[in-house]
Amino acid sequence: MKIVNEPTYTKHITGELKRFDDRNTGFSRGAVEGDKYTLMHDNSVLNIEKQATGKTILDHATWVAGRTVDYVVRRNLLGRDIVPIYNRKYRLKHPDSATMTKIIKEKARWIGADKVGVAKLNPLWIYTHWGIQNVTYSRAAEAGDPIEIPSEYKTVIVMIHEMGYSAIQQSPGVEPETDIGYAKASWSASSLATFIAELGFRAIPAVNELGISIPMAVDAGLGEMGRSGQLITRDYGPRVRISKVFTDLPLIPDSPIDIGVQKFCEKCALCAKYCPGRALMTGERTDSAWDASNSPGMLKWPIKAMKCFDFWVKNGTHCSVCIRVCPWNKRSNLLHKMVRAFAERNVLTNLIIQADQLLGYGKQVEECSNKQDPSVTVIDP
Ligand code: SF4
Ligand code: SF4
Repeated sequence: MKIVNEPTYTKHITGELKRFDDRNTGFSRGAVEGDKYTLMHDNSVLNIEKQATGKTILDHATWVAGRTVDYVVRRNLLGRDIVPIYNRKYRLKHPDSATMTKIIKEKARWIGADKVGVAKLNPLWIYTHWGIQNVTYSRAAEAGDPIEIPSEYKTVIVMIHEMGYSAIQQSPGVEPETDIGYAKASWSASSLATFIAELGFRAIPAVNELGISIPMAVDAGLGEMGRSGQLITRDYGPRVRISKVFTDLPLIPDSPIDIGVQKFCEKCALCAKYCPGRALMTGERTDSAWDASNSPGMLKWPIKAMKCFDFWVKNGTHCSVCIRVCPWNKRSNLLHKMVRAFAERNVLTNLIIQADQLLGYGKQVEECSNKQDPSVTVIDP
């Protein structure tokens, strides 16, 4: 792993980057253009009736259970300034940035983050306006309201939350790790923001709200952006969820890192090959947008967000196939750490990709973890 002066996406910038509008994310467009999120959930209930493998009533219930805390926290705390609960009188008088950075990272890990980094807030990553999806769940604003993070919030603390390896292997069957991951992300961001607020400083916790998490995580030294548009981390690959806290507490930013993802993705493309929605690109990077859900001005592999969402609707649950098949998605053990040393240096990349396929790492595992008969009966009204 190399510590670098600028994030590895910088060399791919070809034009003027502009702030992105949350109304143009796949989630927001899907809600406006066809209520796709509701359709996906309607289809999840049809899957219960059909007793579809990996999508039975037991799988469905696990999925929704995982999300419970996220729904409550988002509705009450995310995307807005945290109000201190007890201390509204005192403020830490002489916060030392280096010491406070250490303390913030300790608290983040104590609260439940698997990794944490700090970045100087780049206003380019803040959405211009609220989109309907984030409004529906957070109720922090109205759709179309402008977003401005006040200039005192100079820093963003970014946390990553590992999702379990075995559950991700079951995708595109129901995998509840995304959902429990969101719950952990909501819990961690709001709890860390409360810590900062009780010190007398300002803090806004967010998960998907307010801005694009992936470049913020890259800026905070937590990984690099891959072909699939996801954050590729050193220890968990793309198998993570991200949360963030914007703050005026003085902190020292981390440096970005280079773990070899850019060159690796140029040779790999397994995510695009296996994407069931045909939403990911093979071939070279482009700086042209596929549609309104991409920003121009940077060479990358634009995601066809609506194609992805259409697959989720058809599937009756979300999808993590691109995470499942990525060679960086590995359990953290000695063997994989040894292979990672080659991957990071872009040595034997083609061999690593071929071996990954031959050894069946990215294959779906369809397993029923219990013997309960999944047949259902209609509940009497
Ligand atoms: S989530 Fe599924 S459909 Fe969407 S890009 Fe990833 S693999 Fe493709
Ligand atoms: S599957 Fe391959 S191309 Fe896609 S993000 Fe992972 S390493 Fe990059």
